[in-house]
Amino acid sequence: MASIAEMFHPLQAYLHNSKRKFEEKWRRPLVERGKLDDFKILQTLGTGSFGRVMLVKPKKDNNSSYALKMLEKAHVVKTKQVKHTISEIKTMDAFEFPFLITLEYFFKNNVYLCLVMPFINGGEMFSHLRQQKKFSEELTRFYSAQVILAFEYIHYVGIVYRDLKPENILVDKDGYLKLTDYGFCKKIDDQRTYTLCGTPEYLAPEIILSQGYNKSVDWWALGILMFEMAAGYPPFYARDPMKIYEKIVSGKYIPANHFSKSLKDLIGNILQVDRTKRYGILKDGSKDVKTHQFFKGFEWDSVFQKKLQSPFIPPTTGAGDASNFDFYEETPMKTSSKVLFAKEFERIEV
Ligand code: AMP
Repeated sequence: MASIAEMFHPLQAYLHNSKRKFEEKWRRPLVERGKLDDFKILQTLGTGSFGRVMLVKPKKDNNSSYALKMLEKAHVVKTKQVKHTISEIKTMDAFEFPFLITLEYFFKNNVYLCLVMPFINGGEMFSHLRQQKKFSEELTRFYSAQVILAFEYIHYVGIVYRDLKPENILVDKDGYLKLTDYGFCKKIDDQRTYTLCGTPEYLAPEIILSQGYNKSVDWWALGILMFEMAAGYPPFYARDPMKIYEKIVSGKYIPANHFSKSLKDLIGNILQVDRTKRYGILKDGSKDVKTHQFFKGFEWDSVFQKKLQSPFIPPTTGAGDASNFDFYEETPMKTSSKVLFAKEFERIEV
């Protein structure tokens, strides 16, 4: 329970009010809003095993832009991802936080499930990191802070995210972040889960060792991300995923020699194989990370309220500008005269 003093902090007050709102939305079956014909499809922004994310504009409002994620129902059923996918959609609908992508519209057609999100035009953190080779510690701090705040919210509402990596982090026009892709999100509350999922370089040792885990894996992934942002490469790397896993469970890595003492120390405290020593999940939770020397004097509330100037503003020419995204060969959309997999996706509820 938060103390009165803590409740005066904008973030604490926000968290306090957010759980009930999240739960209400989480439990409610999702009602379809919109239809594919309402949108003009412009170009592909990204792809995945599921299908594509497209830049779209409402036919009735040429000034707005959205990102449309199209999940092919047949693929979801074939790969036995029906439950996961419904949970992804529900999560996107229920989340409400400045650094998290939310759902604007949802509808189905005969072939696809369609998720419409705000279009974040600054591109993926991944592209900027590859372009800039590495980020300054100032930018590493600014970005990590937003991931930490997002994790506080995500964990507070009982979800574990499980897929932190630069590809899943978008940068908006003001240089602030939005986490995206909730395909591995799971509502676990205070329980443990055992599923092996995530991206090799970002997997926590307890996932690899099938030990059963909870939000501890997100904090580990934060340590990996902070390292990768500041160094330009991840701490545990090999071509062969099995070798990556060996390195991860050994917990041994070499910090880049330009890392400051405080960054090295914070990463060292997060990348602890022994969970009884890992920052983020000790008795004071995220506070150990937020009050660490690396964040000395950092204005957490200003970042939460987006009042701090970002150290990096991505180049954009307007709200609908997709030049920060890679080019993708366009492929025709699949069609069907019959509704496919109507039963499996009849109700979008958990
Ligand atoms: P996802 O499977 O959700 O990670 O989406 C695949 C890719 O599509 C992402 O890595 C982004 O490049 C792009 N993308 C997803 N959502 C958005 C969005 N809301 N705005 C802009 N691009 C997006």
